[in-house]
Amino acid sequence: MQRLQAFKYELVPTGEQQHDMRRFAGACRFVFNKALALQKENYEAGGKFIGYVAMAKRLTEWRNGADTPWLKDAPVHPLQHALKDLERAYKNFFAKRAAFPKFKKRGQRDSFRYPDPKQFKLDQANGRIFLPKLGWMRLRLSRPVQGTLCNATVSFSAGKWFVSVQAEREVVQPVPQATSAVGIDVGIARFATFSDGSYLAPLNSFKRHEARLRRAQRAMSRKTKFSNNWKKAKARVQRIHAHIGNARRDYLHKATTTISKNHAMVCIEDLQVRNMSRSAAGSADVPGRNVQAKSGLNKSILDQGWFEFRRQLGYKLAWNGGWLIAVPPQNTSRTCPACGCVSAGNRLTQAKFACIECGFEDNADVVGAVNILARGHRVAACGESAQLGRSAKQEPAEAAAQLTA
Ligand SMILES: [Zn+2]
Repeated sequence: MQRLQAFKYELVPTGEQQHDMRRFAGACRFVFNKALALQKENYEAGGKFIGYVAMAKRLTEWRNGADTPWLKDAPVHPLQHALKDLERAYKNFFAKRAAFPKFKKRGQRDSFRYPDPKQFKLDQANGRIFLPKLGWMRLRLSRPVQGTLCNATVSFSAGKWFVSVQAEREVVQPVPQATSAVGIDVGIARFATFSDGSYLAPLNSFKRHEARLRRAQRAMSRKTKFSNNWKKAKARVQRIHAHIGNARRDYLHKATTTISKNHAMVCIEDLQVRNMSRSAAGSADVPGRNVQAKSGLNKSILDQGWFEFRRQLGYKLAWNGGWLIAVPPQNTSRTCPACGCVSAGNRLTQAKFACIECGFEDNADVVGAVNILARGHRVAACGESAQLGRSAKQEPAEAAAQLTA
């Protein structure tokens, strides 16, 4: 089977290269926004969706036109790729997978991609990469790239430039080393509880850094916008954000690697994490209920990174020959694993499960995990209605593509 994997490295650019990379990222953002504005305008005038090919023709006009001659200085392929990004955003919106595309803002995920391996050269022996209109640039080659190069994305984050190189290689369809199956219940008090009774402690990296972050944000708001001190304060806020992100990624990667190595089948609840963490405040017409409590929960959910946890489990299990099964979440926390009785009365407190029929008692999260595992077995054995999910077949390319060092 083909494995697509991304390898991300920090770049060591010269001052001039940094300057150019900022300009290129800005040009891509400009093209994306201009195309989005055009698309909207065209729609309001009753026109049909403008496809990539037609839009790319406009790009050529913009590059050769008198209004934006500086677009000509940026490499053309990343600019075209920005149009592809927009088209994909529209497709996701049409398929109801995502919200309507938004205009990009400066300083938010500045990046540009060279979509074809012919457009760059990676010299691993000397730890450098050649990028069009930028020339050779040093990079911190922390590990070798494996496979055939596919594309390269340059991005800016927390004051540093990175390049993420995607490569594809043929790997033997793996046979799982482990033979066991496990159910996992994700929660707030415990990040994840396993059906064998063990659990992962909550990931509170965000909470721990929250006070520091708030202080830094307050300090930034007191500075005159765009002054030197404001820029310094802003860089500090971004560093704290990056730190939180790194700690969370590290924790999740370690956890999901261990789980996918030790189990051949992993069952989880098919929770719509995206819906759960959607803005609790609601809109002006329809204000949300329990905003305070929900925003706390939202933050916890985002903090815990359940969605990321599940995504990583999906592709890592596929890499190890294992299987991730998402089961319907109804009543997993209210069903007695001993007698099968379903009642809200079984779950009087958040932490404890006590069956009103047979008196069975256990930790509520463990009971949830046991029920999830049982349901997963039924799904695997006789196809009980469930989304057989996110394992080898359904999202490998995209999941793997997102993987970074
Ligand atoms: Zn019972």
